[in-house]
Amino acid sequence: MKTHYKIVLISLVSAVLSQCSQDKGSVISGIQTSYMDTSVHPGDDFNEYANGVWLKNNPVPETESRWGSFNEISDRNMERLKSIVNEAASDLNAEKGTDRQLVGTFYRVAFDSAKANKDGLTPIKGYQERIAGIKGPDDLIKTFAAFHKMGISAGFSFYVTSDLKNSKMNTQYISQDGFNLPDKEYYFQPKHDSVRIKYVSHLKNMSSLLEQRTGTGFDAMVVYQVEKELAEKAMNSVERRDIYSQYNPMSFDSLKKTYSNINWDLYFSELGSPSFDKVIVEQTAFLAVLNKMITDRKIEDWKHYLNWQLVNETANSLSEDVAGLHFDFFSTVLRGTKKMKPRWKTALSATDAGLGEPLGKLFVEKYFNAEAKKKVNLLVDNLTTAYSERIEKLSWMSDATKKEAQKKLSKIIRKLGYPDKWNDHSKLEITDESYCKNILNCNVFEFNRMLEKIGKEVDRTEWGMSTPTVNAYYNPSINEIVFPAGIMQPPFFDANADDAANYGGIGAIIGHELTHGFDDQGSQFDGDGNMVNWWTPEDSTKFKQRTGLLVKQYSAYIGIDTIHVNGNLTLGENIADLGGLTMAYYAYKKSLNGKPSPVIDGLTGEQRLFLSWAQGWKNNIKPEAAQQRLATDPHSPPKYRILGPMSNMQEFYEAFGVTEKNKMYIPLSERSVIW
Ligand SMILES: [Zn+2]
Repeated sequence: MKTHYKIVLISLVSAVLSQCSQDKGSVISGIQTSYMDTSVHPGDDFNEYANGVWLKNNPVPETESRWGSFNEISDRNMERLKSIVNEAASDLNAEKGTDRQLVGTFYRVAFDSAKANKDGLTPIKGYQERIAGIKGPDDLIKTFAAFHKMGISAGFSFYVTSDLKNSKMNTQYISQDGFNLPDKEYYFQPKHDSVRIKYVSHLKNMSSLLEQRTGTGFDAMVVYQVEKELAEKAMNSVERRDIYSQYNPMSFDSLKKTYSNINWDLYFSELGSPSFDKVIVEQTAFLAVLNKMITDRKIEDWKHYLNWQLVNETANSLSEDVAGLHFDFFSTVLRGTKKMKPRWKTALSATDAGLGEPLGKLFVEKYFNAEAKKKVNLLVDNLTTAYSERIEKLSWMSDATKKEAQKKLSKIIRKLGYPDKWNDHSKLEITDESYCKNILNCNVFEFNRMLEKIGKEVDRTEWGMSTPTVNAYYNPSINEIVFPAGIMQPPFFDANADDAANYGGIGAIIGHELTHGFDDQGSQFDGDGNMVNWWTPEDSTKFKQRTGLLVKQYSAYIGIDTIHVNGNLTLGENIADLGGLTMAYYAYKKSLNGKPSPVIDGLTGEQRLFLSWAQGWKNNIKPEAAQQRLATDPHSPPKYRILGPMSNMQEFYEAFGVTEKNKMYIPLSERSVIW
């Protein structure tokens, strides 16, 4: 299932979600000199200099849309997880509700393609009958609710999380949802013409298959028109970065009055939700359109739409012909991936998505490296100290704002490795009935857990990422940085490598996450996670001038063909990359205690720090995936995550003797120094 959009944009270090591993090939410097193309001057193209040989020798595999450090680690690590799930799956007598039973049964059924083919579309037959029985808007809304509980998107989405203005309490959000192209602009902009045409033919193909196998298909053109109408007043990816415009609290009564065609009482009673009196509508114009569509559109149109949503959102867990058709559009057309991954990998990813915590627990028991956690904890201390010293020295910021920034920095919570407290999954039903049913059961289980939060205080111990994940995030509402066990691995962290590589790897990522607390979005939240303005107006203006330089710099970069990077969409991540690398540099310098850095492999420590950052972002990508990411991914393409921050750093110019003759050179007056 895809995750629904949320207003609290949890800031990841990377949009790749993958798993971890141990890199046996690490050299003592932590830098892979064999990847480098030293015929390129580091000041002309640092990506080619650091990764040129690797880039030439590592094309994107057919089963991937891009290939880089995150994928390499994930790939190797999946072998480790495979032994865990296989062992659990072979135990047919595991006690019901235990992690072993849940993970083992889920994986066993997911892996069984013969069973999936034999089941065909039976797992969704009952829901198709429910759709057929819809008689009017009230039945429709009830079906929306039933679908939402199962993680099937329809019309809009509802979720519960901390209140942006009262971070201790949970509150209710309603968000735009229910259209399937990557961004609303795909329905309207000429540059997406060819994707749109292929999408409509995908709808037609899926409808034929559904009709052939169940007797009930859907009208592809009607479905497309419903999605397009939903998308029209929705916000695009850039507009969704404006948090204030999406914080529209209203009472439950006024929700009912304003969007009166939707029977909200019925919707929430079908969900089994406790009552509440406040809701935050993220996109008011979108919801107004949906409200109108509920009665303006014929009920038959909605039935077509729901049949499509049903098969689309469950496709991967159905027979291989359905899953294959889904893959052809969403992976091949949109991302350029030519071949499906082997079944064990897709089954393992689905297990992680549905049962992240039980799988994480088994993973930690077998593989957690307590030594790595201790060392990463120390690095977080050093990065935080470097940050505090940098803030104190900033020439552009007033003492009043500095004081507030320091206060916020001192309150940042860290979560390292895995949760202190695991959620109880013992009541979750995972059986041998069907792959599809198991996924839906996981979704219902999580939805119910979410409903239980209504009216309660926020549980600040919760994790938003599974333990084996190779990634990290900052969450502004809790003012926390989170590093799962998965990222505490080479090439990002290696206990045996020289410090410079670790500062340029995990150190810069820690700095990146800390900086999210002070990027264009994070800076709108205080140390307690509340959306509060703590800036003086003058400092706020100066901050915008400095971030404006970054918008200009990145917008000039070309992503692919003639398509530029969107400097507004990627601003938060670009601020975080610049802040993270800067902080890593100063934390490393401080660790040297005034001594010159050791030279290893003919490289100074300062040079190795920049190389380590660059080698973490080595990456090849399919053109289709590049295009989609340029339109929707808040992270800049990896190449510019290397070139962008370095071009602003005098420290980089000095480390490699970069002058105005080099291509990466930016005149001092145009460089952005923020944190
Ligand atoms: Zn980030």
